[in-house]
Amino acid sequence: MKLGDIEFHILSDGQFRLDGGAMFGVVPRPLWEKRMPPDERNRITLGMNCLLIRTAGKWVLVETGAGDKWDAKHRDIFAIGGPPRLPDHLHARGVKPEQIDIVINTHLHFDHCGWNTRIVDGKARPTFPNARYVVQRGELEHAKQPTERDRASYLLDNFRPVEESGQWWLLEGDREVVPGVEVVRLPGHTRDMQGVRLSSGGKSAIFFADLVPTTAHLPFPWIMGYDLYPMTTLENKKKWIPEAARQGWLCLFAHDPQVPAAYLRERDGRYEAEPVPLD
Ligand SMILES: [Zn+2]
Repeated sequence: MKLGDIEFHILSDGQFRLDGGAMFGVVPRPLWEKRMPPDERNRITLGMNCLLIRTAGKWVLVETGAGDKWDAKHRDIFAIGGPPRLPDHLHARGVKPEQIDIVINTHLHFDHCGWNTRIVDGKARPTFPNARYVVQRGELEHAKQPTERDRASYLLDNFRPVEESGQWWLLEGDREVVPGVEVVRLPGHTRDMQGVRLSSGGKSAIFFADLVPTTAHLPFPWIMGYDLYPMTTLENKKKWIPEAARQGWLCLFAHDPQVPAAYLRERDGRYEAEPVPLD
């Protein structure tokens, strides 16, 4: 896909499944099951959509999916799918791990930073040896000391090796990391989650991360039960969704298994996704 001078691809790390109730918070099942039908274990299928961006002579990767450091039990609980997975897509496009200049993690939940590292000689090591890995400083601090409520979402092997190798580029707030690629704080799901905005040639795209994980989450109160600060999520949805619709931004959804990219249209106060076909 092209956005002014920026070229980017949406790459999937495969699909996985999470509890449908947890994915929709206070919304009753009769409502959400029409949008996303659950399996016999009440799980809905989600995508793990990552972005590969080429701009200003750099390769930038946004999100690294769930990775492969999983035992059989957890692979079954989350029904982690594929192949193909993220490394297969990079390989197919002729991009080697050593060529990635920047990895942006929106936050450090396991489904967003899994391929940050992989096991070599029995030890987790950074998959992208020449990359700077970008996250908000507060997110990394929280990941190292999560609460009882969210510690299942953080796996040390996804982020500690990046600290050991000195590859973190820790941010405190919004920042353009390469020309046209800006991270923006979108707190709510976690205190320091960030999204990514692409701007070039008068056009913009926004990767919402888990603020709006799928197109089914466009209605303002359809907020995940996982969110630590749901009222902040609500505030941010009411700010960013109308803005994206008004400005005609291309919207990118981290977990939508069918519609990773869409434009938003407002109709009688509701926002609807108009899917954009992929290349
Ligand atoms: Zn997620």
